[in-house]
Amino acid sequence: MVTASGSAPATSGSVSAVPDSASSAASAEAPQRKRVLLAAPRGYCAGVDRAVQTVERALEQYGAPVYVRKQIVHNKHVVQTLEERGAIFVEENEEVPEGAIVIFSAHGVAPEVHDQASRRSLRTIDATCPLVTKVHKEAVRFADEGYDILLIGHEGHEEVIGTTGEAPEHIKLVDGPEGVADVEVRDPSRVAWLSQTTLSVDETEQTVAKLRERFPLLIDPPSDDICYATQNRQVAVKRIAPQSDLLIVVGSANSSNSVRLVEVALEAGANSAYLVDRAEEIDPAWFEGVTTVGLTSGASVPEELVQGVLALLAERGYSDVEEVRSAQEKLLFALPHELRRNLSSS
Ligand code: SF4
Repeated sequence: MVTASGSAPATSGSVSAVPDSASSAASAEAPQRKRVLLAAPRGYCAGVDRAVQTVERALEQYGAPVYVRKQIVHNKHVVQTLEERGAIFVEENEEVPEGAIVIFSAHGVAPEVHDQASRRSLRTIDATCPLVTKVHKEAVRFADEGYDILLIGHEGHEEVIGTTGEAPEHIKLVDGPEGVADVEVRDPSRVAWLSQTTLSVDETEQTVAKLRERFPLLIDPPSDDICYATQNRQVAVKRIAPQSDLLIVVGSANSSNSVRLVEVALEAGANSAYLVDRAEEIDPAWFEGVTTVGLTSGASVPEELVQGVLALLAERGYSDVEEVRSAQEKLLFALPHELRRNLSSS
């Protein structure tokens, strides 16, 4: 049901076929070639690129410090780099001096957060990904029409908190297929579902199927909520996982889409899969008996971190790198409109 968008069909890249019995016999005589299968697309999505650029542009336009509510994107390296340039990351608006500039992260915020900022006379720049904003609008519309909304997502995730804040009286969280049995609604004939943008496509389909068993009149969102970047990275990792003795996902532990890539890799047949923030976290013991290493990165990960892993792999003899591309991505988002007017004078 969920289909990828924001991308064109694959135009390049291929995965070598799994050896047949004849080639297996041949490979038994000669040592197997160590290699890397590099997934594409990987790394930055359009929403992350826009959010990081927003902080950089705000620092250029207004000078340091610029405050950012929550991690602008869920990646340690990105946050540290922006901190070095003068961004100050805070958890709540109360930590921002009155009248200062504050940027809201890519994950989106509840309307109440905008209201708090206004009460403190903060000058706000909203870096919420437009694809998250789309889900917020769907939530508002369904709530206005009197539906209860079953929001599939992970409890406590910032995106889920932000979306729920749009219609707290109407939204019930469903945290995976096992959460379906406990859901209670006011009227089973007026129920719709939405989802967090960074979930596992396969698991979400299972959750929706279970929800539909309980609520046959369940309404679908007008378009997929799991975003194009999440879907494309999962499709790409599925292509390399069956041939990977070891699959490394570069990403931070609090990055939902990165954690999902590890799960998807294991489900798709990788012998082992690990999440690392950077090359230094790779354990040499993981390479025991490994011929093919799969490599990808989450949507909030700069390419330089992947290149660092490739350099380490080359040092260990994995210098033969084959990129396996399953989609081209061309989507770009305009920077927030607040950057196009002078916040200094507002
Ligand atoms: Fe937007 Fe998807 Fe990227 Fe999240 S992962 S910032 S929803 S494009």
